[in-house]
Amino acid sequence: MSEKTLFQKILDQDIPSELVYQDDQCGAFRDINPQSPTHLLVVPREPLPGIADMEERHETLIGHLFRIATEVARREGLDHGYRLVINQGEHGQQTVPHLHIHVLGGRPMSWPPG
Ligand code: AMP
Repeated sequence: MSEKTLFQKILDQDIPSELVYQDDQCGAFRDINPQSPTHLLVVPREPLPGIADMEERHETLIGHLFRIATEVARREGLDHGYRLVINQGEHGQQTVPHLHIHVLGGRPMSWPPG
């Protein structure tokens, strides 16, 4: 059994954190270093390292993650819109190798991203 990832430890509550949402496939919690007034992470329980590791069998799971991202955004009252982000690998500035969707909202976003 390989060691748990940081985000597995959070989802399993080995590291205390407020889970704003959880089910048998995923959970959502607040980013420790928020980049906007609302900044949540939606994380699958399966420790896929990144979106590039997605296989055909993950299509339903990834769809579920996006649905939950919209659900937590709605619960957070992000009625004026929000941004969903997945960083992949070194050039994508991914820092935690466990797939996650960032839900960023509460302020107007700029474009293009840095
Ligand atoms: P990324 O750079 O896309 O891999 O995003 C990783 C995110 O995880 C960053 O926004 C971090 O601030 C966040 N993060 C790292 N450690 C924790 C933690 N213990 N609890 C919540 N968020 C974290």
